[in-house]
Amino acid sequence: MKIALIAHDKKKEQMIEFAKYYTDILKEHDLFATGTTGQKVMDATGLKVTRFQSGPLGGDQQIGAMIAKDDLDIVIFLRDPLTAQPHEPDVSALLRLCDVYSIPLATNIVSAEILMTMVKDKNIQIKELRGKIK
Ligand code: PGA
Repeated sequence: MKIALIAHDKKKEQMIEFAKYYTDILKEHDLFATGTTGQKVMDATGLKVTRFQSGPLGGDQQIGAMIAKDDLDIVIFLRDPLTAQPHEPDVSALLRLCDVYSIPLATNIVSAEILMTMVKDKNIQIKELRGKIK
């Protein structure tokens, strides 16, 4: 599966801990990330991550473009709900595209962990869930 990882600055430590904890699962998949998040995850875990621009410089939009091309399966976006982001319009656009295309999206750590348990369970085909209920 293709999994995107994004973390706002105050959530980057949490993303690193998440990536370390789930390295064995994540290494089985194709990982994509905004620039800084991707670099930190790679440095901390050794996982291979395809990095886009930093979020404020267009990285969120690049991940959105993957969704629009039906080229991404899961988004884990650890958002900071307490700090205004200069690229808030890009963030909203990405969340919106996840809903347009029914892409599983976790915006907090517990949701992310629940998604990981689904990713681990090879019997659950996330793609098949999309469009099952109209
Ligand atoms: P970053 O971008 O990983 O480059 O910091 C994340 C964001 O703020 O959207």
